[in-house]
Amino acid sequence: MPGGVSLLMSAGVSRFMPAGLNLLLLPAVLAAPAAQEPAPVVAHARTPEGREILLRLQFRKGLSAEGKALPRAFLAKGADTGGWVPFESLSPEGKRWALAALFPEDQWRQEEVRHTVRHPEVESVWTLAALFTGHGQNYDRLMAENPDLPEKLREGDSWRIPRSLLSADLGGTSRGPDRSQPEDDLDDEARVAAYRGMLSFGEDAQGRFAAYRMRKGEALYSSVVLRYTDRVDPRGVNELAEQIARRSDIANVRGIQPGQLIKIPLAVLADPFQSEGSSELAEERQVRAEVRRTVRVEAGPRLKGVRIVLDAGHGGVDPGARANGIWESDFVYDIAMRVRRLLEQETDAQVSSTIRYPGLGFRSREEIHAPSRAAEILTTPPFAVDGESPSAVNVHLRWVLANDLFAAFRKARGDAQKTLFLSFHADSLHPSARGSMIYVPGASLVPSTFALSGAMPGRVAEAKRSARVAFTGKEKLQGEARSRQFSEALLKALHKDRIPVHANRPIRNVIHRGGGKWVPAVIRYSTGATKALIEVANLTNQDDAANLRDPGFRERYAAAVVNAVRAYYRK
Ligand SMILES: [Zn+2]
Repeated sequence: MPGGVSLLMSAGVSRFMPAGLNLLLLPAVLAAPAAQEPAPVVAHARTPEGREILLRLQFRKGLSAEGKALPRAFLAKGADTGGWVPFESLSPEGKRWALAALFPEDQWRQEEVRHTVRHPEVESVWTLAALFTGHGQNYDRLMAENPDLPEKLREGDSWRIPRSLLSADLGGTSRGPDRSQPEDDLDDEARVAAYRGMLSFGEDAQGRFAAYRMRKGEALYSSVVLRYTDRVDPRGVNELAEQIARRSDIANVRGIQPGQLIKIPLAVLADPFQSEGSSELAEERQVRAEVRRTVRVEAGPRLKGVRIVLDAGHGGVDPGARANGIWESDFVYDIAMRVRRLLEQETDAQVSSTIRYPGLGFRSREEIHAPSRAAEILTTPPFAVDGESPSAVNVHLRWVLANDLFAAFRKARGDAQKTLFLSFHADSLHPSARGSMIYVPGASLVPSTFALSGAMPGRVAEAKRSARVAFTGKEKLQGEARSRQFSEALLKALHKDRIPVHANRPIRNVIHRGGGKWVPAVIRYSTGATKALIEVANLTNQDDAANLRDPGFRERYAAAVVNAVRAYYRK
């Protein structure tokens, strides 16, 4: 492997390869069935009238009851009795009956339900939260009520669901997930300022720290680690949560009560939260000032004169992250193809893709059954993503190709300010996190010059012309500022269509993992005036995975992206 490429492999690309996956292992990974979902649990239940009805508990999809003989009283108003009736469509009486029939060992007491895990292969904390509390999003709170139990369920474990968490349908007093905080509706700058305002700085025998007091409904890994640091991968988040808990003299991470003082070591704080006088905070303020100064580029609703390059992450031998029976590559490719179609149908923007699945072309699909095995980067000649070259090569060829297209556009007197690069991915974060997160190239992490080296890239025409980039300080700042403005427009469009967005700082300009900080290569080296890497959803979250599987959701997502592009190019 040429030196230049191997260096990039560790610095820029590893995030987009599942941990531990290397090229030699790929054939074995792909040989496994696409969606290894455990078989559903089916139970025979009897209605009070003695009729036998099947109940079915499915991995990720939850509980449903056979509709045909279900008594009226067991159905919610207006519910359809055809086929399998989902748990949510049962009446309070029906829900109570179904849970009792499926989990006969559970104890229903005055102040709590004691749930005994019977089917660990299809039960999960998310599923329990959905069934018993009415919302999967009560995941954190259910975990906090059972601080000594492992998150991965074991047969026989006894989970406590207090009445305060039990859904109203089951006789509880839960008012739904207690996640919304006053700052949630603010734009990115105001929200980060609000988060900053909740910190104070102190010092003890172990050194300086930022102090935070936990609020109601907050958990250490989401409301402290994901919000105040740049760690997002599940392992990094868990390790840091434990480190912060020790620093704060907390014995049990999940038993934390509102009001608890949390000490966050300064070294792990993200730049916007660093102390007054630090160089990190100065850089953050410089970028914010640039965002305010940057005048929006106008193109009109049909996006005339706008050059857009769409990139769908992974593909070919690399399916990307996988969880909950789905995988990254095909699902983000589908969203990118829907964005492509909508832009072509509804606008005059000039649109290109970096990657194409042969046999499928640029079509979108309703059903996605198994990972597509073939993909090619659309260079000249096309570059097959077949594992023959280091995976870093295909990642780099994406920005090389996009930059080459942008260069040709500028040469043909196109407006350099009207170039947009979008890369679509999906995350695998902690399962309690959900929604979209958007990465922009942090100005301080973009190099002044960079040239792709190695023999392989030299074989494509685009690499001969565009494998070299140079950015001035002003260009780096402008790149981050414009990309932040676009990300803001995208968040608004997603909110408007009620598409979930990450609860804590959904716009990021750096990834911190394994001791290193970086920006993904596809946006780090992009010469597009505006660029963003969009993590559309968190695959490990069951609701997010269900969304991605739904073609209607993928279409709505694509429409929101196109609305955001339109809004962005409007003054
Ligand atoms: Zn990815």
